[in-house]
Amino acid sequence: GVAGGGYGAQQAYSEDQIQSMHVADHYSARTNQSLEERENSPIIHLKKLNNWIKSVLVQLYTRPGDRVLDLACGKGGDLIKWDKARVGYYVGVDIAEGSIKDCMTRFNGDSDQQRRKKFSFPARLICADCYETRLDKYLSEDAPFDICSCQFAMHYSWSTEARARQALANISALLRPGGTFIGTMPDANVIIKRLRETEAMEFGNSVYCITFGEEYAEKKFPASRPFGIKYKFHLEDAVDCPEWVVPFHLFKLLAEEYDLELVLMKNFHEFVNEYLQKPDFADLMRRLGALGDGRDKSTLSQDEWEVSYLYLAFVLRKRGAAPSQ
Ligand code: SAM
Repeated sequence: GVAGGGYGAQQAYSEDQIQSMHVADHYSARTNQSLEERENSPIIHLKKLNNWIKSVLVQLYTRPGDRVLDLACGKGGDLIKWDKARVGYYVGVDIAEGSIKDCMTRFNGDSDQQRRKKFSFPARLICADCYETRLDKYLSEDAPFDICSCQFAMHYSWSTEARARQALANISALLRPGGTFIGTMPDANVIIKRLRETEAMEFGNSVYCITFGEEYAEKKFPASRPFGIKYKFHLEDAVDCPEWVVPFHLFKLLAEEYDLELVLMKNFHEFVNEYLQKPDFADLMRRLGALGDGRDKSTLSQDEWEVSYLYLAFVLRKRGAAPSQ
């Protein structure tokens, strides 16, 4: 079933809640693209590369039968990846109602043909703010999870310390001891470095643009105020909304407070270079067609490759031994 997102009509919203509604509206408004629209996207190869990275993470850290919690699941673009990993149960949560509806359609299939090759696991989809709500209240009967995934969305929790903490508290409360948290998010080191390299308050290329407000004109980010460092992110054919810088060392420290220990952190460039060495993953990359040999239109452009440098992948593990099986 779909639970409510917790927005009462009468209450006064904080600045912070209004920001997350912007994010939710932005994603809700993005309807499913047709296959043709997708193939013509200026960032089609970047999307494929992102899918490859998420697939590698899923394949490396999931075991058959695992119970999966997909935070900020969006339209369910990762459902097939979880199916290939033969997971046992799936719960997807997202703040954008339109995306949850699309996810449901994708899960149930909207034609007889699709229904026949339905997913092999049961699923539950919930519309809620993962960084504001205590999710354990909704999910007491679904927990504990073996694996939690938060793809391209953890940074939306970094607008305030309270939200960042609620995000990590949710993940920690819902994972079993020894359970794994995998994710992808912007690489703050790269973003701040790029900002300092330019004279202006914005930088980018033909497919993306990042803009910081004048309040950061000195380009200094004191360690005493590590939350709510906002910038505007525009990615052609994908994103156009406010995002927040996540200083990774702080993310790591805060996660430790919630018994989540860092296992791996790699910028996407490093991630690609490393896992592309493995024949199975190189094979998957060929099948997805994200990286080719030439520099023609059949492969990732230099500008798309630059965008991928803005992101990192991480893996954390919930403290405590895995129960013996
Ligand atoms: N994880 C999906 C994927 O990899 O395809 C979607 C990624 S999309 C870039 C970011 C998603 O985060 C959107 O679906 C958005 O609605 C969701 N999101 C943003 N803030 C959220 C919040 N506070 N709670 C739940 N979902 C949120």
